[in-house]
Amino acid sequence: MKKEELAAQIAKAVVSCKKCRLCKTRKNAVPGEGNLNSAVIFVGEAPGQNENDQGRPFVGRAGMLLADLLSKIRLSRSDVWIGNVIKCRPPDNRAPMVDELRNCSMYLESQIKLINPKLIVTLGRFALEHFVKDAKISKEHGVAQVWKDRVIYPLYHPAAALRSPQVAAVLEKEFKKIPRVLEEAREMLKEDSRSSKKDNGAQISLM
Ligand code: SF4
Repeated sequence: MKKEELAAQIAKAVVSCKKCRLCKTRKNAVPGEGNLNSAVIFVGEAPGQNENDQGRPFVGRAGMLLADLLSKIRLSRSDVWIGNVIKCRPPDNRAPMVDELRNCSMYLESQIKLINPKLIVTLGRFALEHFVKDAKISKEHGVAQVWKDRVIYPLYHPAAALRSPQVAAVLEKEFKKIPRVLEEAREMLKEDSRSSKKDNGAQISLM
């Protein structure tokens, strides 16, 4: 089966999913969208109000900032894949609950397996914690690390950047390093597969 067909199957399962309480309050589930062959994907926490209204990820002000940041590294939304850990909006944008994360994670796992990116850029605390347990975004933002056979690059969430000019400056600086991080990830993963060593948790240099 083609990638597009498999992605459509996952999306269909997401929009009809009733595995957690969020199905009762959502307007639209948000499966995620973009280039299924992208070497880099962007993963946020959960849909907000605009995303819930439209059924698409990052379409509000935070999404506009994400698109702007992408343009600064000569990419557009359609070049990459964008999604969230949680596919339905938590009411009033509250933090996702543990059981919601547990129930929903299989969808993102299937999407990552399908797209097979080299680099996963996590946006915000929850997305980072989904991949790296007990990680602290305040300490680990901008520090790429090996995760399974991929590289995770944790960044602040664009919504946090909209609330703080300091965070916005850090996000922009670290976002601009994505092409270099991706290049290093490709090299490192190539070497890793040659030596068949999976040094999960190791940090990679961005210098
Ligand atoms: S948040 Fe995830 S698990 Fe819960 S209903 Fe939506 S798609 Fe299903």
